[in-house]
Amino acid sequence: MAGPRIVLLGFSIECNRFAPPAGRAEFTGRCYLEGEAILADARSAAPRALAEMPGFVADMDAAGPWQPVPILLAMAEPNGPVEAPFFAEMMAIWRAGLVAAKGQVDAVYCVMHGAGLTTEDLDPEGTIQAMIRDILGDIPLVCSYDLHANVSDRMVATTDAFVGYRTNPHMDMRECGAESAQLLRRLLAGERFTRAFRRLPIVAPTVSMLTAQGPYAEVINLGQELATRDDRIANVSVMGGFAYGDTPFNGMAVIVTATDATAAENLAETLAGAAWGRRARFVAHLTPLDEAVRRAKDSTVPLAFADVADNPGGGGRGNTTWILDAFHKAGVQGALIGMMLDAPLAIEAHDLGIGTRFTARFNRDMAADDPFSRRFEAEAVVRAVSDGNVTGRRGIYAGTAMTMGRMACLQIGGLSVVVAEGRAQCADPVFFEHLGLDIGAARCVVVKSRGHFRGGFDEFFDHDRIVEVDCPGLTSPILSRFDWQHLPRPVLPIDAEARWP
Ligand SMILES: [Zn+2]
Repeated sequence: MAGPRIVLLGFSIECNRFAPPAGRAEFTGRCYLEGEAILADARSAAPRALAEMPGFVADMDAAGPWQPVPILLAMAEPNGPVEAPFFAEMMAIWRAGLVAAKGQVDAVYCVMHGAGLTTEDLDPEGTIQAMIRDILGDIPLVCSYDLHANVSDRMVATTDAFVGYRTNPHMDMRECGAESAQLLRRLLAGERFTRAFRRLPIVAPTVSMLTAQGPYAEVINLGQELATRDDRIANVSVMGGFAYGDTPFNGMAVIVTATDATAAENLAETLAGAAWGRRARFVAHLTPLDEAVRRAKDSTVPLAFADVADNPGGGGRGNTTWILDAFHKAGVQGALIGMMLDAPLAIEAHDLGIGTRFTARFNRDMAADDPFSRRFEAEAVVRAVSDGNVTGRRGIYAGTAMTMGRMACLQIGGLSVVVAEGRAQCADPVFFEHLGLDIGAARCVVVKSRGHFRGGFDEFFDHDRIVEVDCPGLTSPILSRFDWQHLPRPVLPIDAEARWP
């Protein structure tokens, strides 16, 4: 088979610097694929990988002959920083693959997240990209990134084309993979790209960066509109960033990839100005917990309560009990709550079996002075159990095979509480439905998810039936509550005196 020889690799994890470190188990439990396994997964009906690599491979397959040179694709759910020794092991695998490919390959596609950390490196994506350049030199390299990337200068300097998601919830991962393939083919055909980069002193709370409406949506849409009018522009990426990474590269970023440097600079400047002009709107509007309890009891229409401060999709542990405790004490009826990530409790309930009454002890091993959550105990009945092998139905996990470990639904008074051994954010109705729970019949649903649940639960709850609740947690949108170490200061919305340029 002829065609271009293209190296494939990837590193994807969103790291909350305040959360416990992640190691090998967090990657192997989610998606850790070496060599040909990357292609087998990408071409399967339900890939384990997020959709960029499947989208890239499908677009390349459709375009004609090519020769993939797959190395290692490592993805984990958002977590704390990656343990440096494990990252070094992965670096050794990528390095060996790149050295073996040297002189025999034409291009590289790299799936990144962009908000990774290790326990020793605030810019692991930049480190990987610099290594690719060191070994393979000036061959076409396209990297794709999550919209929450904290963009370093090194990331922009070392890639030829910078492709970021345009949707939040992230519904365009597959399209970004396909677009990366198309840009790589343009590079292989001899075109050359330049990039313009602006980083603003705005570290927006994640809840203020939705793309269906609001200031962030307006900037993204403006970028797409202006790009379609100018064929020198190859890609416009407006990256919101991930506050809890706490890096010197935090800040909303505009990256324009183009065939003409002046066109790229002008558009980047225009979009940075558009974002800065909307700066006062990048703030969180949360509902206090007591008000949320009142609405859960009194509302005449079903509501979704988002526990935005304990989002496993942002490094949260999925273990805070503030809403559970308050709803239980208040006697809220007909509520579904998911997911509490509590391995000992999920295993115990699963093994006790359906119908068993027992005392459910949440966070039983937690220190009494844990700053982010508390223990909680209540009488419970096991209502359903599962082995946790689920395929996402709707939203960011749609079509993705997931291994959640042992799971159970506990009836605690008027609350149906889903507990799981494994780790994911509650962004897909399947986590309730596969246990026999009927979301459409519930009075309210509590989800541990910051925003991705919107893409999964939109068929039940439109925008004005969603309540973002203010509780403590590792992903609280109230950024003044964190002890920042590396964030560039002054920065909005924490420091009113921040200025740009
Ligand atoms: Zn993201």
